[in-house]
Amino acid sequence: MKSQDIRKKFLEFFESKQHKIVPSASMVLKDDPTLMFVNAGMVPFKEYFLGQRKIVNTRVTDSQKCLRVSGKHNDLEEVGIDTYHHTLFEMLGNWSFGDYFKQEAIAWAWELLTEVYKIDKDILYVTIFEGDESEGLAKDTEAYDMWKDYIAEDRILLGNKKDNFWEMGAQGPCGPCSEIHVDIRSAEEKAKTPGADLVNMDHPQVVEIWNLVFMQFNRKADGSLENLPNQHIDTGMGFERLCMVLQGVQSNYDTDVFTPLIHELESKTGVVYGKSEEIDIALRVISDHVRAVAFAIADGQLPSSTGAGYVIRRILRRAIRYGFTFLNQKEAFIYQLVEVLSHQMGAYFPEITAQKRLVKNVIKEEEASFLRTLGQGLGLLDNVIEATKGKEVSGEKAFELYDTFGFPIDLTALILSEKGYSLNESEFDAALQKQKNRSRAAAEMDMDDWVILKEDDEEEFVGYDYLETQVKITRYRKV
Ligand code: ATP
Ligand code: MG
Ligand code: MG
Ligand code: MG
Repeated sequence: MKSQDIRKKFLEFFESKQHKIVPSASMVLKDDPTLMFVNAGMVPFKEYFLGQRKIVNTRVTDSQKCLRVSGKHNDLEEVGIDTYHHTLFEMLGNWSFGDYFKQEAIAWAWELLTEVYKIDKDILYVTIFEGDESEGLAKDTEAYDMWKDYIAEDRILLGNKKDNFWEMGAQGPCGPCSEIHVDIRSAEEKAKTPGADLVNMDHPQVVEIWNLVFMQFNRKADGSLENLPNQHIDTGMGFERLCMVLQGVQSNYDTDVFTPLIHELESKTGVVYGKSEEIDIALRVISDHVRAVAFAIADGQLPSSTGAGYVIRRILRRAIRYGFTFLNQKEAFIYQLVEVLSHQMGAYFPEITAQKRLVKNVIKEEEASFLRTLGQGLGLLDNVIEATKGKEVSGEKAFELYDTFGFPIDLTALILSEKGYSLNESEFDAALQKQKNRSRAAAEMDMDDWVILKEDDEEEFVGYDYLETQVKITRYRKV
């Protein structure tokens, strides 16, 4: 099944269960002080959970662009090294805003996976929340009992707060969750570790695909939990991982979401995917990062030297350097992938096609500008390493690379770690702080609680209709 059809089947399945199909919201958040980018499907809907906005449809389904490169959910270090964490990925979701709860969420997830997608039950297992005494949270025996109707009890595993209590960030809506995982290892692979603990297994073919969150609480700024006015369902399934399972391949990069990008890179650079680990990582990183950068720009976040713009610049610079060092690319080339992306994703995400020229030009400019100093900076770094006694490199040198050559600190740290060195980050921070002190006041963040509106409270603003336009995040307060 092609990825386009996999996405379509998901949406149509939930449409058949009376869900309204809505488009992905913009990935870029302009007025949320606690978050720069949408990092989960629930983010554009959080006001519905908090009761801050009138609910138009109580059942909704979508495929949301998510970016996990900062804050509580930051997968950047894994991307390209492993084969199933991306910076940008699509999260398929079905939503109940105060409508159905656990029973239906579990039943429909199972029906979709095993009857519509026809995934073999024997490769699936699930987890439920084991409870947490320190917060007075009970074990989710309800979910356990529901799963027993579908799956053998030895395939229902307990998960701790880290994995099975979902939180968007330091504050906001949250709740216990139940996750569906796949084990697509070959019999041969399985035989290597009989009886292994699947939940804590670090294996590229044993991965989580779908998270069903039972939204019940709001985490406040002081860390305490309060009940939400209603119970909701928030589910998120990693689209690229689902494609991996359904297309019978062992890596997200072998699905048709990524192969067109990898092929284009192979033909542009003359390397072949699957021959050397270093080159493979570079190909995976670049094909992943271009998606994040391109969609961020299409959604209105240009690369820049501060805030969210700097996050995007860092991602792109990371990709540029992988191309420079491992694919021998000394000229701008990543921008050319935008054409492939637009061809491939434009039908579902029209913004990428609508903004194609801008996206290409911005990436090309950014590449050219970083490539002007990259070679020199890498040379300097080599000299610094040579002059370093021991294995820790001076943070002041890293600051010079940052300040003069445009090397983001994480890039310097990455290059050093490849060579077996570490970085004195506190020295770097101190040097940066000195430079930053002047503008510190401006950078300070507003960290108010999100306020839950009760039935009889009034809203200050009656919002946009998200069905017609992209969801806008607007803050509401009690009046
Ligand atoms: P993992 O444990 O694999 O890091 P997660 O528990 O952090 O995933 P959730 O927050 O539960 O992920 O998100 C819901 C789903 O989104 C996951 O089940 C997974 O399929 C997918 N997903 C999460 N992070 C990524 C990522 N970085 N790249 C691709 N898919 C992802
Ligand atoms: Mg994760
Ligand atoms: Mg997880
Ligand atoms: Mg999860």
